[in-house]
Amino acid sequence: MPKSRFEPSAEQTALLPEISGNTINGLGETELRRPSPIYWHKPDSISHGAAQAWMTDKFNAVEELAGVYSKPGARGPRRLDPVAEAKTQNTPQAWATMAKQFSLEHETDLVGIAALKAEWVFEGYDLEKEHPWLIILGIAMDYDGFAAAPSSDSDTRSALEVADKYNKGARAAAALANWIHAHGYNAKSHAGPWAGSITLTPAAIEAGFGELGDHGNIINDQYGSCFRLAAVSTDLPLIADSPREFGVDEFCSRCQICINACPADAISDEKKWVRGVKKYYVDFDKCVPYFNETHGCGICLAVCPWSRPGRAESLVVKLARRRAAQK
Ligand code: SF4
Ligand code: SF4
Repeated sequence: MPKSRFEPSAEQTALLPEISGNTINGLGETELRRPSPIYWHKPDSISHGAAQAWMTDKFNAVEELAGVYSKPGARGPRRLDPVAEAKTQNTPQAWATMAKQFSLEHETDLVGIAALKAEWVFEGYDLEKEHPWLIILGIAMDYDGFAAAPSSDSDTRSALEVADKYNKGARAAAALANWIHAHGYNAKSHAGPWAGSITLTPAAIEAGFGELGDHGNIINDQYGSCFRLAAVSTDLPLIADSPREFGVDEFCSRCQICINACPADAISDEKKWVRGVKKYYVDFDKCVPYFNETHGCGICLAVCPWSRPGRAESLVVKLARRRAAQK
């Protein structure tokens, strides 16, 4: 995909507040803290609400996209079932195995468990006090549809694929939360594109989904970056999975395809401090205007070599061989 320098329109620029989104996100901060709501929250509750409202209005003005997130049944039941009065007893290990099995049988392609950390919960929420566990769900996207990114008013394939998988994630999370309720424990489902109370990416890394790529998203060793996240927080006793590394850092340092493909020059090859963690970070102020114009962009994830069907598995083998040869 050729790189074409994107200049935000005056209309887009006027929507952004004086404060940089990178400041709100904690760029340059070396201390751990909770994330601040910035996007995909109620427009009247965030500094970038005007840009957020513009994006959703533009999205819903396209006939094919309007209402894709609100079609009856698309995201599962509107309300979860009540919590059963009697608690089923089991060991945390048995619950973890059963919850994963249930998820994989109910529209989920990847599943992992993490102990919920306060630094993943947005300011204004304290979910970790009620729900010490997070079950993360990964929903694989159809590569051909997603790889048509970026979307436009006349070509909505990528945006529709993203919406379809966020809706699937919402259904999968609701089904798992209801299963937990039926066993007498509390649970809450979390599904995009709205951010809700938790930022799911660091939680999914902790739960073993993969590593953060240069494009600021997870690279999984099966689906690359061609999947979406959903989750269930709960007080069901569970066992946490562990983070996994398979060579993404080394690969990204030589690849840089997403850096060259991003029309907004929002991706850098340097890791930066963000709220106490040094990691790859996408420049929020540069990304958002292009993201808004294209119903969610996604170019950086679509061009990532790991996202091509079947490619991630072969890259893992190649990188492991290279590491073994270097020993
Ligand atoms: S989503 Fe943002 S960072 Fe990724 S290619 Fe588009 S503009 Fe660049
Ligand atoms: S496109 Fe290349 S540099 Fe960017 S995240 Fe994927 S592997 Fe890393």
